[in-house]
Amino acid sequence: MARYTESDCRLCRREGKKLFLKGERCLSKKCAMEKRPFAPGQHGASTMRKKVSPYGKQLREKQMVKRAYNLLEKQFRSYYEEAERMRGITGENMLSLIERRLDNVVYRLGLAPSRAASRQLVNHGHICVNGKRVNIPSYQVKVGDVISVKENKQGKEVFKAVKESKVIVPKWLEFDTTKLTGKVVALPARDDIDLAIEEHLIVELYSK
Ligand code: SF4
Repeated sequence: MARYTESDCRLCRREGKKLFLKGERCLSKKCAMEKRPFAPGQHGASTMRKKVSPYGKQLREKQMVKRAYNLLEKQFRSYYEEAERMRGITGENMLSLIERRLDNVVYRLGLAPSRAASRQLVNHGHICVNGKRVNIPSYQVKVGDVISVKENKQGKEVFKAVKESKVIVPKWLEFDTTKLTGKVVALPARDDIDLAIEEHLIVELYSK
């Protein structure tokens, strides 16, 4: 499947926002957005000062969210289409659907430092939902689902570090650090999404 091959930091610089794609590095002084907070390329700094058209703003917002959640255009659009068919506010529904992806939940539980790393954990069969191995990153979690690390994988260094850390999870999730087990206690609401997103711009873009 086609994937982005650009450096993660270039994506943040292009969007002019920290997308937290590289785990701990994103919180350190090594973060490229701290050192070069302008678009990549020879004319990067000057393009940041250019006036952006309404279409340009919509496009950038969509690209930013798509990149933050590590999704392809087709996947992202299908979330929009599903959200449009649901009751309620399309933009909020779309963000809720994306937030409920299993790879995102694993990231939110602190089991992986980035969404890319959490997708790998899921792909490699390290994660169970309700006691059964699930290796589909796009799996949609439901209220009551229990997400855990496969028992025979819990001794891995990456998980030992999680057991020793203090994990803060969003209020729609619960997490037992010692058992490496999380639970979905509610569906994610709009204010549970910590990235600054103007989802109405994405809805305007797709509804043209
Ligand atoms: Fe983005 Fe993280 Fe790179 Fe900073 S370190 S530019 S937040 S991916």
